[in-house]
Amino acid sequence: MTSHLKKVELHCHLEGAAPPVLTEAQARKYGVDISGELRDGAYVWHDFASFLECYDKVSEVYRTEEDYALLTETYLDELAGIDTIYSELIVSPDHGKRIGLGADAYISGVCEGIRRAKAKSGIEARLIVTGERHFGPESVIGAAEYAARAGNPLITGFNLAGEERMGRVADYIRAFDIARDAGLGLTIHAGEVCGAFSVADALDAVRPARIGHGVRAIEDLDLVKRLADLGTVLEVCPGSNIALRVFPDFTSHPLRRLKEAGVRVTISSDDPPFFHTSLEREYELAAVVFGFTDAEINAMTRTAIEAAFVDEETRQALLARL
Ligand SMILES: [Zn+2]
Repeated sequence: MTSHLKKVELHCHLEGAAPPVLTEAQARKYGVDISGELRDGAYVWHDFASFLECYDKVSEVYRTEEDYALLTETYLDELAGIDTIYSELIVSPDHGKRIGLGADAYISGVCEGIRRAKAKSGIEARLIVTGERHFGPESVIGAAEYAARAGNPLITGFNLAGEERMGRVADYIRAFDIARDAGLGLTIHAGEVCGAFSVADALDAVRPARIGHGVRAIEDLDLVKRLADLGTVLEVCPGSNIALRVFPDFTSHPLRRLKEAGVRVTISSDDPPFFHTSLEREYELAAVVFGFTDAEINAMTRTAIEAAFVDEETRQALLARL
């Protein structure tokens, strides 16, 4: 139903997008037994702790610069195949360090994947470097410094992800100052695991242009109005929210209520195969489950391009393609 619509994705974690077929091939290549985490072409987990374990196990089979080029290229090819014209991928140079590959080789592999995919389909992609709050403020500052110093034109944003219940956004202000001074776009995971207060926290401490999820802002109608007044863009990932039981079902999901309250909302897939979803399915859900018309969905895609962390020339070219 939405297959004819152009698509844009602002919120997707690179390792979280690893296609099961590619992960299987990688596991064979490295002789890793992944049968506990990957069965019948799908990732297997049952609660938040086992989701994180599964995610780590899958990440383990992507080890070299070429592995990251292949992973990035494969996911972007998949997106281009459903008429996606722009994608922002959340990446963690720290992850590159932790697996012994090194931050530079990790990023360079990802950038090679972006170039290969763009050469085939024209899909544009940019990278959002993320700090992980469960590794503490120093590690997040390190990630911001890396992003700021990289001088890589494909790195255009900075994010804060990881365990939302660890610390408050105020503990990470320094990292966001570094990223802002370097001209990077800012976004913060909030209002997913934690309630409306975490969204208010993000606005008070950093006031990012975008918020990852932010859907639990619906618990505080004054906050919803504040988001609408500020024009803060929410990167909403409905399939992820239902898979992680942020809301019990799509009927109680606030995407439509947020939009009707004037909040600028967009649609993304987060960690698609882990949540048995895809960007294609998220667009389908917007139409079939949330009842948005093609024009309303196109308006959300336009909002995503307006909020994309790209130079103005690229933004205008993307708007022209819509
Ligand atoms: Zn996320």
